[in-house]
Amino acid sequence: MSFTLAIVGRPNVGKSTLFNRLVGRKLALVDDTPGVTRDLREGDARLFDMRFTIIDTAGLEEVTDDSLQGRMRRLTERAVDMADVCLFLLDGRVGVTPSDQVFAEILRRKGARVILGVNKAEGKAGEAGALEAYSLGLGEPLRLSAEHGEGMDDLYHVLRPIE
Ligand code: GDP
Ligand code: MG
Repeated sequence: MSFTLAIVGRPNVGKSTLFNRLVGRKLALVDDTPGVTRDLREGDARLFDMRFTIIDTAGLEEVTDDSLQGRMRRLTERAVDMADVCLFLLDGRVGVTPSDQVFAEILRRKGARVILGVNKAEGKAGEAGALEAYSLGLGEPLRLSAEHGEGMDDLYHVLRPIE
């Protein structure tokens, strides 16, 4: 049996970078310009000996804040509906933002099964962000670095029981 993991969170936290790492192909666009990926992308992910389906949700923040919230909300809700479990990513260097709180609320209201990930936490970066992340009430955050591949063993261990 396999499962579907949706990577959700506000733009620029590193969702597509993690998607690309787990899929091993450049299916999702990554760019320094926030919001380059424009839709939901699905790929076959591999993490050590585990295989699953992964969904990347897009950023659309070139639009105004209002429509960003509406569009991101709808995309996130679609992803949550398709997924068995959501990896909710934060930027550990930034900490918890009001926008993160909006996403947390969507996930809570949908009753989604959530894994909280604090990304960009390579080395000691993201320690403060990880502490802040507890305040979301979504459980213990995993410190990850999508770019440098750190925390992938911890991610494996929380996903293993779902498989
Ligand atoms: P998305 O909008 O959530 O899909 O974010 P992207 O994957 O496009 O990444 C946004 C920016 O964050 C890019 O410049 C990435 O190179 C950078 N980034 C992603 N993951 C990491 C990480 O683990 N550490 C650091 N330092 N930067 C990262
Ligand atoms: Mg993206």
